[in-house]
This record gives sequence, C-alpha cells and structure tokens, in this order.
Amino acid sequence: MPFSPSAKQNYPDYKSSGHKCMVGRHLTPEMYEQLYDKKTVHGVTLDKCIQPSVDNTGRIIGLVAGDPESYEVFKPLFDAVINEKHLGFGPNDKHPPPDLDASKLVGGNFDPKYVKSSRIRTGRSVKGFCLPPSISRAERREVERILVEALSGLSGDLAGKYYPLNKMTPEVEKQLIDDHFLFQKPTGHLMVNSGAVRDWPDGRGIWHNVEKTFLIWINEEDQCRVIAMELGGNLKNTFERFGRGLTQIEGLMKKGGNEFAWSERLGYICTCPSNLGTGLRCSVHMQLHKLSKHPKFEDIILGLQLQKRGTGGEHTEAVDDVYDISNRARLKKSEREFVQLVIDGVNKLTEMETRLEQGKSIDDLIPK
Ligand code: ADP
Ligand code: MG
Repeated sequence: MPFSPSAKQNYPDYKSSGHKCMVGRHLTPEMYEQLYDKKTVHGVTLDKCIQPSVDNTGRIIGLVAGDPESYEVFKPLFDAVINEKHLGFGPNDKHPPPDLDASKLVGGNFDPKYVKSSRIRTGRSVKGFCLPPSISRAERREVERILVEALSGLSGDLAGKYYPLNKMTPEVEKQLIDDHFLFQKPTGHLMVNSGAVRDWPDGRGIWHNVEKTFLIWINEEDQCRVIAMELGGNLKNTFERFGRGLTQIEGLMKKGGNEFAWSERLGYICTCPSNLGTGLRCSVHMQLHKLSKHPKFEDIILGLQLQKRGTGGEHTEAVDDVYDISNRARLKKSEREFVQLVIDGVNKLTEMETRLEQGKSIDDLIPK
C-alpha cells in the first residue's frame, strides 16, 4: 500500500516560520481538509495552487491558478484571497463587462517632457488549457501554435511576426529586453515556486508588429500578454491600438474555434488572482525629478490609486527619476475606467511636478 497522508499530516507549516503570506492567513486546517482531495478536470490540486505560499514567507499572495477551473474548485480559498487582494470583492460581486472604447476617454495626450513612453498590457488564457504553473510541454506548444496562427491574420499597422525564444540569439534577446519589449526569464517567487518557469525557453516567444508598438508575449506568467506601447505621452492612442488589436485577435481565434478564458463574475482568467478582471496594467514612464524626492511621494501615488515601479519594471529601481506609474487595481472597473484613472492621476502628478519646479507648495493637491 502506498503511503497516503491525511490532510492533517500534509498541512503546510504557516505558523512556526513567521509567515506573512496571504494564503497562510486564509487557509485554515479545516479549509485545507475540505479542499485536500479535490481535483480540477485537468488534475490540478490545491497543493499545486498554494505552493508559492509554502516556499515564501514574505508579504505576498502566494496563490496561483493551475487552470481556470481552479478558481471554482478551490473557491473558498480563492474567494477569500480575491476579497482581500482586491479590497472587497464578495462571492456575489461581479466584475463589469469589458469596455475598450478609446473615444470615450477624456484627455490622455501628455507632455513628453514628463511622460517618456506609454504602455498598456493585459493577460489572457486560451480556454481549455492549463495555466503556466500546471501546463505540460505539449499543451504549452499547442497554446503557442493557436496564438501564433491567430496573430498571423493581423493586418495593416498590426501585421507582424513571431520570434520564438529558442530560436533567438542571446544578443537579440538582450536588446529586446533592454528596450523594454521582452520579458526576462522570470526569477520572482511566484513564477519559480509555482513551477511556471519549467522547460524554459520551450514554447515561449514574442510576436510583434514591424514598429514594435503592438506586442504579444507567449507563455510567460500568463499564456498570453497583449501589449500596446509607444514612445511619448499619447496614452489615448496606445489604448486605441490596444483595443483594436485585442478585438481582432479574439475574432481571429474564434475562426480557429478558440476563445479566451473568461468568467462572468471574475472577468478574464489569469494565473495570479491579482490580475483577474481586466488584467490591465496601464503604465507611463514618467520623469519626476522633483516629486520623487518629496517626502509624501509614496502616499501621493497610493492616494491616487496608482502604483510605481522602477524603470525596468517590477523589482527594479528608477533610473534618472523615471518611474513606471500605473493603475494599482485590475478588478471592479472596466478597461476604459482604469485608463481614465491613470490619465487623471498622471495629470495630477504633472501639475505637482510643475508646481515644485516653480518652487511652490503642493500641499493642496495631495490626495487625502
Ligand atoms: P508587466 O508585468 O505589467 O508586463 P513589468 O513590471 O514586468 O510589467 O515590466 C515589463 C517590461 O515593460 C519592463 O521592461 C518595463 O520596463 C516595461 N515597461 C512597463 N511600462 C512601460 C512604459 N510605460 N514604457 C516603457 N516600458 C515600460
Ligand atoms: Mg511582469
């Protein structure tokens, strides 16, 4: 008889090692026992989804979905984590329908003195397949094939080519990363501990149009990341291209009998619960020589419901005071509403920076 441990015997050690992880706070021994034997249609277990929380004691979420069904089969845990991460999203709450209409935006063409580049990305998953933490090599290659086939139908300014990572020279790869177009081999806990970096670089690659203003990452953290970006401050234009490209990809996928995984309640399904809803991160590279040295800089960013990253993205530092400023949340608002939030926030930051340049106070502009 093989050893078959009980849920009690297998419960992770969240207590003795000073865990600060979100999953550790929500996954009680009782909940673990309730979900322990369950499996999704793809054979994903709870242990697969919580592995990042076991291997990392930091202030992280620690939860990934092995497949879209994980969100349903392990609902008690996912719902608790989603509710905390998204600052209130109960089991009966519903994410609003998509809205990619750039014509409804107010403003969004910024002064390039402050806004150096604009970028909008989202994550998508092809329905019927495992997500990166659980995907097999064959499935990953099939996802790549489906996406590349659909992308080959893009035309006009969006027409482009696929560059698989395993056929790319190290020089080309480095240049694409340095130019902010391509992902690096992930080293972060979420990707490594969830098993999403297995088989690297098999099945991974980047598709982009000739001008590199519309780019698709294949099989990084999500099966698919759709990105529109351009130099300068025309975020409205970036959103127009983003929406147009995304809608065309959906149409082309449908021709091949495929669609993106989507839930009526949670919106678009991504690997990390933090990206549920729109999966949208709308960011500008903003140079803030003065404001970034203001003692309230962090609070201002938070107060405007924004997030800041370094010039090279997550886990990097700002170079020459250039910050990646983006929406903090992804759920509960439509794509257009998130872009509008960033537009309004960037206008505020620009106003503050200008005031500081003139040696004036910004106290009355600081969000309460
Ligand atoms: P995400 O997970 O949203 O794709 P990351 O923080 O992992 O973002 O960054 C990915 C890449 O995108 C990095 O090279 C980063 O510098 C680049 N990037 C993000 N926003 C912008 C922007 N507005 N302009 C230029 N590059 C950007
Ligand atoms: Mg990233």
